[in-house]
Formats: sequence, structure tokens, C-alpha cells
Amino acid sequence: MAKYPELSWSIARHNTLMTCARKYVYHYYTSHNGWISNIDSLQHQAYRLKKITNLEMYFGSIVHETVEKAVAHYRTTGELPGEDKMKNYIRQKLNLAYRDSYHREYSWWRRPKGYIMLHEVYYGNTIPEEKIDKIKYRLDTVLKNFLSSPTFRDMLDTENTDFVESEKFRYLLIDGVKVWVVMDLLYYHHQSGKWVIVDWKTGKQTEEDRNQLALYAMYVKHTFPVESLDEITIRNEYLLDGSTEEHKLTEEEIVRVQDMFNLSLREMEEYMEDRGKNIPKPITSFPMQQNRSICASCNFQELCFPEGYV
Ligand code: SF4
Repeated sequence: MAKYPELSWSIARHNTLMTCARKYVYHYYTSHNGWISNIDSLQHQAYRLKKITNLEMYFGSIVHETVEKAVAHYRTTGELPGEDKMKNYIRQKLNLAYRDSYHREYSWWRRPKGYIMLHEVYYGNTIPEEKIDKIKYRLDTVLKNFLSSPTFRDMLDTENTDFVESEKFRYLLIDGVKVWVVMDLLYYHHQSGKWVIVDWKTGKQTEEDRNQLALYAMYVKHTFPVESLDEITIRNEYLLDGSTEEHKLTEEEIVRVQDMFNLSLREMEEYMEDRGKNIPKPITSFPMQQNRSICASCNFQELCFPEGYV
């Protein structure tokens, strides 16, 4: 097992570094190999904490999983699971997360990958009522919006669409560095002659969404027989408010994302002792975030404030 992780880049990694350098080192370096039983306890602890999720994130991942399963099921059988069936699946998963977080802490502690631990329970001992109400509202809304989305209509049009991939981890190499690309959906639409990249969102719109999609477009242009960006449509489906945003990328936007990658990678390199082996500097070289309200939602509070959480 390699002592240090392979260097790679993603928008999530960049965002983590921008949020807090200490969080970045815990997440991308200290936790490495933390799944091995006879390893240093700090590595174990960082790995375990990295695996904590929160209710909104967990809900978003389950919705993605449900949508992906529904699409796969439809494309192999021609039948679509009903809305109630999909809702029940999500409810069961939420109940599982609740049960693991409240009643299986020890199992999670021993095998963090096999169980769910919610941040709200781990650091706050309880899930606030308003969060539960928010998730109930989202559950009622997102599947309805999914079923009435333009992407869903395209999915039913099997004659016209060729699906390429869904939620698979892919990467492209930029300057020899693996850049991770996790697309929710990619298909070729024969009628329009376009490659359509779809990103489902269960949260609010952010500035980041376009950068993410620009990266996906770079990947599609590198990987498939695409001659110009005009052949690519990028689409955000906002399942919470039912809106759809379609974009056509320009070369300038691609260059902007490439510039962001270059700057970000340079900053990451500043924190390395050995660039070739991706060996980080000592933990104390990674400054802590000073804004305690940011720390309050961080998974690594236990490491930064062992005397008591924020
Ligand atoms: S608790 Fe605060 S200082 Fe520590 S890693 Fe998280 S954000 Fe950074």
C-alpha cells in the first residue's frame, strides 16, 4: 500500500483547500490508508471523520442513487418505478442513516465505510426538527420535478438517445495530473446532434455549477468524437425548484477553468514537501480556519478542538 496518496485534482478538492488548509490536509492526506487496521490512530481517526456526512448531503446522494437506478431500470425493462416506490426507497435509506447514527456508533467506528454517521448526531446529538421538516419537503418535491424534467422526457425517448455513462468516476489528464469528473448523466441526442451533459442538483444554484459543467465538457471533448463545443449542451436540473438551466460553453470559459486548475494546483504544491511523491508538509504548516462558524459544520472538529467541539 502506497504511503502517500496519488496526486489528483477535483473542484471539491479545490473548494476544500479554499475553505480551510487544515481540513484539506486531514481529508486528502492524513486519512490516507486510514482503513487499514494496524495503522496510526490519527490516520484512522481522520479517515473515520472524513466519512461523516450530513442530512442534506446524504439526502442528495440518495436522490442521485434513486434517479440513477430508475433510469437504468427503465432502459433495461422499459418500465419506470412509480413515484411512491422511489419515495419509499429514499425513506428507507433515511431511516437506515438515522438508525446507524443513533444506534450503531460502535459499528461505524470500527467500519466507517459500512455505516452512516450524520454530522448532526455525531456533533450535536440530535437532528433539529426544522432539518427533518426541510428534508420531508424536499422528498415531496424533488421526485415530482425529476419526473417532469426535460432530461427525463429525453430519457423516455429511447429511439433518439444513446446513454454513455451515469455517475461513473472518470478522469482526464491535465499536465499529467488526474482530474476527476463525476457526471450524473451523459447522452447523445440524435435528433439535435448534441452530446448532453446533465447534473442533477438537490440544493440551491451556486456560482460553482458552471465551472463543474465546463470541466465535464472538457472531458467529453477529450474523450468522444466531438469537434466543437457547439456539439455539447450542458444542463443543470434543479430538482428543488424544478428549474432547468441549459448552457452553451465558450472557449473562454474552458480557458478560465483551465486557469483555475493551474492556480489551484500551484497552491496545492505550496503545501508539498515533495511534489513527485506527493508528500505533504507537516500538519502545522496547514493553517486552521479562524471563522468558528465554518468550523461548526466541519467533520474534523474533534481533531482541531479535542477539548470540546465548536
Ligand atoms: S474544524 Fe475548523 S480549523 Fe479544523 S479542519 Fe475544520 S474548518 Fe479547519
